[in-house]
Amino acid sequence: MSDGAGIAPARLSPSEYSKNFDEVKPPLDRHEAAVDSSRCLFCYDAPCIEACPTGIDIPSFIRKIGTGNLKGAAVDILSENIMGGMCARVCPTEVLCEQACVRTAAEGKPVRIGLLQRHATDWLLAQGIQPFQRAPASGKRVAVVGGGPAGLACAHRLAMLGHAVTVFEAKAKLSGLNEYGIAAYKTPHEFAQREVDFILAIGGIEVRTNQALGRDVTLGALRQDYDAVFLGIGLATTKTLGIAGEDLTGVEDAVGYIERLRQAADLSTLPVGRRVVAIGGGNTAVDVAVQSKRLGAEDVTIVYRRDPDAMSATPHEQEFAQVNGVRIKYWAQPVRLVGSDGYVVAAEFEYTTLDPTGRLVGTGETFSLPADQVFKAIGQALAHDQPQSATQNMPATKGGKIIVNADRETSLLGVWAGGDCVAGVDLTVQAVQDGKLAAHAIDRRLRGG
Ligand SMILES: Cc1cc2nc3c(=O)[nH]c(=O)nc-3n(C[C@H](O)[C@H](O)[C@H](O)COP(=O)(O)OP(=O)(O)OC[C@H]3O[C@@H](n4cnc5c(N)ncnc54)[C@H](O)[C@@H]3O)c2cc1C
Ligand code: SF4
Repeated sequence: MSDGAGIAPARLSPSEYSKNFDEVKPPLDRHEAAVDSSRCLFCYDAPCIEACPTGIDIPSFIRKIGTGNLKGAAVDILSENIMGGMCARVCPTEVLCEQACVRTAAEGKPVRIGLLQRHATDWLLAQGIQPFQRAPASGKRVAVVGGGPAGLACAHRLAMLGHAVTVFEAKAKLSGLNEYGIAAYKTPHEFAQREVDFILAIGGIEVRTNQALGRDVTLGALRQDYDAVFLGIGLATTKTLGIAGEDLTGVEDAVGYIERLRQAADLSTLPVGRRVVAIGGGNTAVDVAVQSKRLGAEDVTIVYRRDPDAMSATPHEQEFAQVNGVRIKYWAQPVRLVGSDGYVVAAEFEYTTLDPTGRLVGTGETFSLPADQVFKAIGQALAHDQPQSATQNMPATKGGKIIVNADRETSLLGVWAGGDCVAGVDLTVQAVQDGKLAAHAIDRRLRGG
């Protein structure tokens, strides 16, 4: 019998909480940055530039770090990626720029591009320098819906280009998942908010928080009142498992739990299970599992239905989970959650395999994991349940994502979209690139191009 006592706050001492949620990847000091920058070969047609979704001129900024020109390095980075500071902390560099670094192939050890990027951008933010200026006012007004990486990157570029921008954000704070979702130990010390302040300092961006599309404003009204609209609304709902027991106490949406964790003023007030199971194969599953462990859970298991290669969490992230004491079980899918007195006590799984046609199938053989807390981390979806969304003529979608063309324009004239709400995006750096591309496309349209 369970009384829910398996989930409890204050499992650790104050010093353990602060140690466990301190930054996992500390910054480079000046000497380390000089040594790392000297390893760059400044390749012609550098493959790392191609591998960065925002196309930062990496050899150029590294050369500037090497000559002590940190401002020039930061401007190189931020001109292409206004969230260069956050991306330096959260990009899976091992599958992006650093994977492409020729030193990786030659020596198995890339130039630490992400950390060098952080070295330069942190310096600029600490100096309080505002390197960008606005072009003369265009007289055009653009509504940006959603103040996450895609929306803020779009808003900043539009402001630079001289347009007046209004950001409508459903939540109380800007920055989207940078503020509410990314693992706490990747971006501590309120970095997301410091970056927001830096972005807004360009001027020309009005922010309206607690304003949700579908609740407080309609797309129809925005299209009427503004010259263009950009949707950067992310994916606001979590997919359900569709199995018995999902409504038991202790069964939670992983993204919602991480949001509570990120917003907790005191982590000792956040209850966590003794035995935790996270279902899924992406960043979210890894992050909720590792953070549960660091909150003091004793036994944490991620269960994923395919093999390690199919997991969207990179091998590096899977290893990080394991190093943190999280067990990963592959080839199993949930069949039911077992309860007692309304509380979850176990999760039952069926082993999976591929049939001769390559389709994932259950083997019929099952096993059970004891659990006081089960996190659903099987992906998110566009919020279809937004009030009025059915009647407000939203853009066409496919596979649950907004359809856009290469310029990020949707099926609706004058409405662009980018970031997680469109297909092919699931990283901060990709969302920033979408916002930037859409801003340039909007600018061309508004100038009659
Ligand atoms: C748990 C987790 C961990 C992650 N870790 C990493 C990582 O380590 N590295 C990485 O690169 N990526 C990571 N990601 C992915 C990354 O956070 C996203 O790709 C990125 O935030 C997408 O940016 P976005 O602007 O499209 O969406 P979001 O960040 O989701 O921002 C969308 C914004 O729109 C707002 N909004 C939604 N609906 C409305 C509405 N109707 N009206 C007004 N506003 C609205 C939201 O409140 C939010 O502020 C992670 C994601 C999750 C869930
Ligand atoms: S933004 Fe990300 S992918 Fe691009 S260079 Fe920086 S760390 Fe690498």
